[in-house]
Amino acid sequence: DEKQPLPDPTKKTLVILGAGWGATSILRTIDSSLYNVVVVSPRNYFLFTSLLPSTATGSVHSRSIVQPIRYLLRHKSHFVKFYEAECTDVDKDGKTVEIRRQTSDGQELVEKINYDYLVCSVGAETQTFGIPGIEEHGCFLKEMWDSQKIRTRIMKCLEQAQFKDLDPETRRRYVHFVVVGGGPTGMEFAGEMADFIKDDLKSWFPELANDFSVTLIEALPSVLPMFSSKLREYTKSLFARTNINIRTNTALKEVTADSIIVEVKDPEGNKVEESIPFGLLVWAGGNRPRPLINKIIHSLEEQTNRRGLIVDDYMQVKGMQDVFALGDCTSTAYAPTAQVASQQGAFLGQLFNKLGSLDFEKPRVDRYIAVGEELDSAALISLANEKHASTKVFRPFKYSHQGSLAYIGHEKAIADLNVPFLDKQIHASGYLAFFFWRSAYLSELYSLRNRTNVMLDWIRTSLFGRDISSI
Ligand code: FAD
Ligand code: NAD
Repeated sequence: DEKQPLPDPTKKTLVILGAGWGATSILRTIDSSLYNVVVVSPRNYFLFTSLLPSTATGSVHSRSIVQPIRYLLRHKSHFVKFYEAECTDVDKDGKTVEIRRQTSDGQELVEKINYDYLVCSVGAETQTFGIPGIEEHGCFLKEMWDSQKIRTRIMKCLEQAQFKDLDPETRRRYVHFVVVGGGPTGMEFAGEMADFIKDDLKSWFPELANDFSVTLIEALPSVLPMFSSKLREYTKSLFARTNINIRTNTALKEVTADSIIVEVKDPEGNKVEESIPFGLLVWAGGNRPRPLINKIIHSLEEQTNRRGLIVDDYMQVKGMQDVFALGDCTSTAYAPTAQVASQQGAFLGQLFNKLGSLDFEKPRVDRYIAVGEELDSAALISLANEKHASTKVFRPFKYSHQGSLAYIGHEKAIADLNVPFLDKQIHASGYLAFFFWRSAYLSELYSLRNRTNVMLDWIRTSLFGRDISSI
């Protein structure tokens, strides 16, 4: 097929695992004429996670915040291939990855792909701390299918709660929405849920109007540790006014089909167990490494941190050659955020552009290597930096923190923003921060299609409310 470029045998093969914030940022930056690029991910779309909590209640449609990965690859004239599969192993000596895919007739096929350079950008999965019952009875909020499960569960609870002959306690349980985890994911979902109740559910289900409740449970003494204390206090007071019950110093211990067991620490430090009934439980307790990352960590002596891959200043995985990692699957000084992953992705894209276009004086390179021997990325980087000592071709990754932003419900947001030229941080909250939150996310969305859809969703929600059909 003339339209399908073939891999160029004279070029190195760059395999990128993942289609999230880190991977897509590399793809946007990289000069694909320098490599044969292969992208492997079990989902064939990019997910704009920042608006995922809004999709769980239907403020924004699911399809508005996803973008097919092929959208990014479509204009690349050179060999760039996407495979929908999961990487399950890396053979660092043979320089291959093992990938598994499900065929349309349900078979599982295992194949191998060769790489010259490999990038792990597989993100993380939801941490459960082994809490019994959490996977069976709780909902996570990490992927689009989690959001869809939450929505289905909300609708189920609503329909069940208004059935005839229910005792008041059971009715209240059905419409008690419990969120565990006071990080931004949990707080944003609690805010969205309170909006849904206030704007739509109270009028569609007037018989339940006095029964709805939202509880946010956090093990630590405070929620949203990454925000300034002023904004944490603002959020707490807004939640109190909007009837979201925040319970700090309260740790989830066990989950059953209709209630959670928590351990509550009183001001004297005594711990008491308590059972809390729920209709919907959303667990937002943080991240843990995916099985592939655990496998790599356990196979390498150099990988001593169980939270993620240790990488050097150029994002090279310690203990491996020509393997890079970024984003939530790494363990670095930075928080696992989209902001970090996308900056690291842009850094790596530029690093690969430089690696692919290095023109050394041949004799100088030959002094270092035997005939036929290939230099790995680490050797190329140090050689280039040594050769051009004054300019330093490759500079270490430096993160530039722009600030933190979160929606907390009631058309209010909080923002801690870094203003480099003033060398200070601005703390904003309320409506102004909400408009800033909306415009920042609109501009960050991937395409004009995404932006238009999200904008229309916001208009639709304010004009007609959220849909309450159980689909
Ligand atoms: P991801 O974006 O998670 O991408 C991982 C990719 O790897 C996916 O495509 C996945 O399908 C693929 N993959 C998984 N396993 C394999 C495998 N075995 N082989 C190949 N591919 C694989 N951060 C912010 O900075 N601002 C926000 O507003 C914000 N909001 C958030 C809201 C929610 C609800 C959540 C859950 C997170 C939010 N974050 C936010 C955090 C942010 O989403 C992550 O830090 C970011 O997604 C990390 O990017 P990543 O590329 O490392 O991983
Ligand atoms: P998180 O790790 O930030 O928060 C998890 C919370 O759950 C913690 O406060 C923890 O103390 C609590 N927790 C853990 N075990 C518990 C238990 N047994 N009982 C009660 N509470 C328990 O997780 P997250 O909110 O999913 O965020 C993950 C990453 O994504 C973070 O880096 C965050 O900054 C980023 N993120 C950012 C935004 C944003 O910027 N708007 C939104 C969502 C996520």
